[in-house]
Amino acid sequence: MNILGPCAAESEEQLLRIAQRISRVSRASLTIFRAGVWKPRTSPDTFQGVGDIGLKWLQRVKAEYNLPVATEVSTPEQVQKALAAGIDYLWLGARTSANPILVQAIADEIAKGSPKGVLIKNPVNEDADLWIGNIQRLTTNCQRPVYAVHRGCNHHPCWAMAYQLRKKLPEVPLLLDPSHMSGDAGKVAELCSIADELAYDGLMIEVHDRPQEALSDAKQQITPDELEQIMLQSSNGQSSNGQLTWLRRMMDEVDDTLWETIARRMNVSRQIGEYKKANGIEVVQPTRFEEIKTKRLAWATEHNLSEESVRELLETLHRESIRQQQ
Ligand code: PEP
Ligand code: MN
Repeated sequence: MNILGPCAAESEEQLLRIAQRISRVSRASLTIFRAGVWKPRTSPDTFQGVGDIGLKWLQRVKAEYNLPVATEVSTPEQVQKALAAGIDYLWLGARTSANPILVQAIADEIAKGSPKGVLIKNPVNEDADLWIGNIQRLTTNCQRPVYAVHRGCNHHPCWAMAYQLRKKLPEVPLLLDPSHMSGDAGKVAELCSIADELAYDGLMIEVHDRPQEALSDAKQQITPDELEQIMLQSSNGQSSNGQLTWLRRMMDEVDDTLWETIARRMNVSRQIGEYKKANGIEVVQPTRFEEIKTKRLAWATEHNLSEESVRELLETLHRESIRQQQ
């Protein structure tokens, strides 16, 4: 199942243009057309969505291109309006997903209607338990298929969060949203191939025929041509879904943070070097290094790391710091 379409409905013409292109993309599985009409944006000065009128445009897309349609709901009132307009699928965004009281109120409202399905993104903060709890609120209440959408946090994938969800709720279909995960159209194709490798059950991708002119999320929306390429390369779930593949993805992400942290440490080290130079202080300060060693070696024991390895790592880091300061 793939949910494709622009971040936001901007005009009736824009939706129909994009829907026409998406309806022609070869599809191995169900395609749903997406567009947000009420946009939960960070700043009140940016485009907030076209509002209720957008539902009428989505109705036209549904009728003219025979595509099921989806929109984002952030309040029970929006659920009522979307269902009254015949919207097939509703999704709860990352900001809504951070608030369990709101999720419960939305779940109660959805239970009164009959959408074809409900999707919920992971919360903006990395909190697998909150995401899982929200899915449980929806599944107990809604009597409709519930899908999880993994969109990462702060443009980091957070594979470990999705891994936890997969293990806890293996029966819940899991989709990847490479657009919000990366915030970068240039990274969408690679994330789609990782989704294949990890046997995700589908994708939610932002597609715009004129991404540079988009009123929201302009940098991350791909064109219909780029979408076609991605769909051609998709293996349609032929992958292994091995636990090892997941664990390696998680390891790569931890390593990214680790190496970025080392680079940040060296940056601070250079600033300390400049201060020492300006104030006539020796680069090597044995007492300070002894303090750091004592603190970290005690920490190593608490964290089940061998003292010997931690000592070697500290020596290596210290050597590089000295080099940076000379
Ligand atoms: C969206 O899908 O356009 C959206 C607002 O996403 P998220 O909730 O993941 O930020
Ligand atoms: Mn968006």
